[in-house]
Amino acid sequence: MTLTAPQTDAFRARNPRDGQPSAPIPATPLAQLEDIVARARAAQKAWAARGVEGRIAVLARWRDVIEAMQDSLIAAVSQDTGRVLESRREAANIGKWIDRWSAIAPKALAPRGGQTSIPSFTCASEIAAIPVLGVISPWNFPMSLSLMDAIPALLAGCAVIIKPSEVTPHFIAPLERSIARIPELEGVLTYIRGAGDLGAALIEHVDGICFTGSTATGRKVAARAGARLIPCFVELGGKDPAIVLEGADLERAARAIVTGATLGTGQQCYSIERIYVARPLHDAFLALLTEKARKLKLAFPQPTDGQIGPLIFAPQAQIITAHLQDARDKGAIVHCGGEIERHGGGLWVAPTVLSQVTHAMDVMRDETFGPLMPVMAFDSEHEAVRLANESSYGLSAAVFGPQERAMAVARQLNAGGINVNDAGATPFFIGDPSVTPKEPFGASGLGGSRTGPDSILRFVRHKMIVTNVTNEPSAWWYDV
Ligand code: NDP
Repeated sequence: MTLTAPQTDAFRARNPRDGQPSAPIPATPLAQLEDIVARARAAQKAWAARGVEGRIAVLARWRDVIEAMQDSLIAAVSQDTGRVLESRREAANIGKWIDRWSAIAPKALAPRGGQTSIPSFTCASEIAAIPVLGVISPWNFPMSLSLMDAIPALLAGCAVIIKPSEVTPHFIAPLERSIARIPELEGVLTYIRGAGDLGAALIEHVDGICFTGSTATGRKVAARAGARLIPCFVELGGKDPAIVLEGADLERAARAIVTGATLGTGQQCYSIERIYVARPLHDAFLALLTEKARKLKLAFPQPTDGQIGPLIFAPQAQIITAHLQDARDKGAIVHCGGEIERHGGGLWVAPTVLSQVTHAMDVMRDETFGPLMPVMAFDSEHEAVRLANESSYGLSAAVFGPQERAMAVARQLNAGGINVNDAGATPFFIGDPSVTPKEPFGASGLGGSRTGPDSILRFVRHKMIVTNVTNEPSAWWYDV
């Protein structure tokens, strides 16, 4: 995804609203990486020694700085993504996540142990954070996704080095200014700038890696981490299904699904990208979904004029066009949208509803990452589950219908985050102490949960220290 040749001194990003290149942005030289990691490794010792309450106190001060800087953060991430509503949410996430994870951390990291099943032994636990964690993040929610793993890792006691996508680099500068206001974070939380080769180089130096991005790149990251035997957490693409069962509230299902499929212009890993509807409801649902999709407007010329922002990454338009062409060629009907539109130098796609689709079409198999809603009928719940699970991905899913039956269907789906009678709700629970863990299935990822205590415990190693508290020999000792 390199916009300019790799490892030039500077690169430019494209403004998604007008297509214009940014001023040159200095890249972090590969040659500096070793020093940056060494600085992080040194700083991590004092950071870990603060203990969890000490780290919570420092992050609370950072949160206050972040809160006071909301306007500049929103402006910068809007410049990267061309959208305002989602940018406000991204800026608000930081403080919310610090608070949520700070509520989880003390209990998650509390010492454990006590009497063991062998009467002469007690056990105590000791926790060691991954010293330097690398984070590599994508362009679709650039600020949030750069911090979604970094915040729990910081609370666990890691130093973190973040390599965001070069496609969306403007949000980094105000965040760096906020970090610079908290001296204790110096060397503990560092952003670097550059393309994929800088991310690849980062993996060679760190002690663990978190990656959010495409399945193709995730495979390379996991392979390299495997070769180095460092912990690796990859959160990848999705092709999330929604199932509408007989007895579902159609109005509710259509409204939730149109939102879940088009929020962020469908440039979300957990977007609804396939819709299966009980045959008796199919035609009415299709009409309702199309009616609602038509009501959504492009956020043009002003970012607040509508709900659907521009495509952030220009080459994504080629994938969307190819999926539409393939679907049309194989007999799909387009009910609204269906074209890449050019306005003001940006690339746009209106919410697009398709019917007469099959699993032979790319739009039902491969991640589109755009606001496309292909709708297909099913004849039994068994068939709905089979179709939903007929995917290499397994990130999230949604089921609409009478509560008990919808739950029964939900339990059979191969996906980590499943919504019943809602859609695309999973990310709103990131860091929420009240939810259970979720893990991606198949090509959607590998590694521990981003929710619950596990989200923090991913970043530590536990030591089990067992002590013989008696003066007696142990039963298995040689009699010598
Ligand atoms: P990419 O995989 O193209 O890039 C992700 C990050 O990896 C970028 O920072 C990129 O740098 C970097 N990178 C590229 N090549 C390498 C390499 N060889 N080694 C290490 N790092 C590398 O993903 P996108 O940015 O296109 O993001 C979209 C994808 O992310 C979609 O598939 C989406 O589903 C997924 N995603 C998953 C989420 C989840 O939680 N499961 C959440 C959000 C998105 P650069 O861009 O500078 O080239």
